[in-house]
This record gives sequence, structure tokens and C-alpha cells, in this order.
Amino acid sequence: MLRQAQHDAEEESPRPPLQGGVNFHRRFAGPLLFKEGLGVVDDFFLFSFRFYPVILSKDVPGSAIIRLMDIIQIAHYLDQLLDIENIKDSPRAVNGLQVQNAMGIRKVGLAVDACQATIEMAIERDCQMMFVHHGVFWGGLQPVRGPHYDKLSAMMQANLGLYSAHLPLDMHPVLGNNRALADKIGLEHAEVFGEYEGQLIGLKGKVKRQSAKQLGALLGEKLGAAVKVIGDGDVESVGLVSGGAGDIVGQAVKEGLDCYITGEGENHQYHEAIEGGCVLMFAGHYATETGGVQAVGKHLEQQFGLETEFLHYPTGL
Ligand SMILES: [Zn+2]
Repeated sequence: MLRQAQHDAEEESPRPPLQGGVNFHRRFAGPLLFKEGLGVVDDFFLFSFRFYPVILSKDVPGSAIIRLMDIIQIAHYLDQLLDIENIKDSPRAVNGLQVQNAMGIRKVGLAVDACQATIEMAIERDCQMMFVHHGVFWGGLQPVRGPHYDKLSAMMQANLGLYSAHLPLDMHPVLGNNRALADKIGLEHAEVFGEYEGQLIGLKGKVKRQSAKQLGALLGEKLGAAVKVIGDGDVESVGLVSGGAGDIVGQAVKEGLDCYITGEGENHQYHEAIEGGCVLMFAGHYATETGGVQAVGKHLEQQFGLETEFLHYPTGL
């Protein structure tokens, strides 16, 4: 009853156009097809208008209101795309929408780390949202003070939202960090490899037979980073896991792979690799995780016409 009354009241008073609103003076009827395709959310019809994604509503008789997509809609889309709900991540990770904002999204800043520097870059470059691999929450409850407060307050004052995807971004079969890394070295016949929490999070396959030194040089050139090569000899079968996954070298040894590539590791893994006859490469935690956010950015551009910019802030580690 109350719901009906609310509904009637809404029908009587047309909502004012939202941000960037434009009224069409004809009744909206039926779905519209645009080059990016069409999505339907309840009674909203989603399409691209000029260069920006908009929602077209048929709430107002005789006209329609368009507005930019908001962060909740984009986050919902990303949750499905990256299978946030089903991928088992570290209990310390917080995947999904981390900081909400209250405005339409035109531009998304892409970064590996949500740190003070990239947050400032995003604000300066007029982003309304960031999409990152390492968010601002890690390791459980944290009081909002010191540098943590500085980051959150800067974002909220600038009305900047934040979405973070950790393991779901590493392992996405098309847009993931590992896929990007595999493409850089020309990995063929790729299949999943590298167990973590009952999931295979990396990739393995074959590259053109070459010396470990050559492969390390190729990887360094493609990533624009220094690559530490441990061991030598020719390599062909290669396993890789982006980021800090040095502990998976033991699995590469067990599977008889010629080479294992990751971002960073620990001292004892040197011996594990040498004694196991597997060349180990540390190509940088940051550098090996630059591919995923950029691939998702490109996808958002193509899918919704959003503008994106990669906020490159290499740690060199
Ligand atoms: Zn990482």
C-alpha cells in the first residue's frame, strides 16, 4: 500500500534531470541498439550517448532522462566480469567497491597500487573513479588515521571512488595480469598452473626455445623493468604467476618446467630453483601487475565508452 502510494507520488512529480541530463521529447519505446550493445537493468536501458555511458530512464511520461553511469552500476558490472564472489583470495584482501562516490563516472584512473601518489594523480587528471589491483584496505580492521586517513579523506573530498580487484584480476583468463604477462613473452598452448587455495592462479605453456638470458632480456624490455634471472641454459616450458608468488617455484620444479617467472620472492627460493633445475625470474611485483588494470580499462572503454588513463607509478620492486 505504502509502496503503491510512493510509486504514485513519483509518477506525479517528474524527477529533475540528473547530472548531465538531457530530455528527449518523445516517449522512449523499446530497446535501443548502439554499437557497444545494450544492457538492461530493471526498467533502465543502458547505452552510450556520444562518448559517455548513460542510463536512459522511461520513468517520466513523454520524455526520458539520461545520466552518466554511477559507480554502483560499474562496480556491479565488474563484480560479474571478474567473478569477485567466487574467487578465493587472501582473507586480507577486500575485492570490489572499496570507496563509493556520488557522481556520474566519465573517467576511470587505472593503477596497480592505490597509494597517496596515484590518488593525487587521479584527482589531478579529473577521474571520478579508480580501478586498482592493490586497494586501500589490506589486512583486516584499520583505524582511519595517519596515512590511511589522508588517502580516504582525499578521495572523499574529491568525490573519487575506488574499486579494487586482487586475485580475481591476476587470474582472469582474458583480462588478467597473468594473461598479459604470457602475451608479452609469446607463451603458447597456455593452460592454468600454480595452485593457491585450491585454485590454479597462473599459467604455463611454451615459448620459442631460447636461452634464459634472452628470455629475461625480452621480458625486461616488454615490461620496462629490471629482471633478475637465476640460473641459465635454454628454456622452452615456462610457468608464470604475477606479483609476489616466489613460493610457487616448488610447483614449477615438480612439474619439470624449464623456467618460472614471478614478480618477487625470497632468498631461499634461489636455492630451490638452482637445485631443482628450473630457471627463476623475478620481474618485479609492480611490473608484472601492470597488464590487468590496463586490459580492464580498455574493456571499459570498448564496452561503455568510458575514458580511462593509466596512472603509472612504478615502485621498481
Ligand atoms: Zn600484487
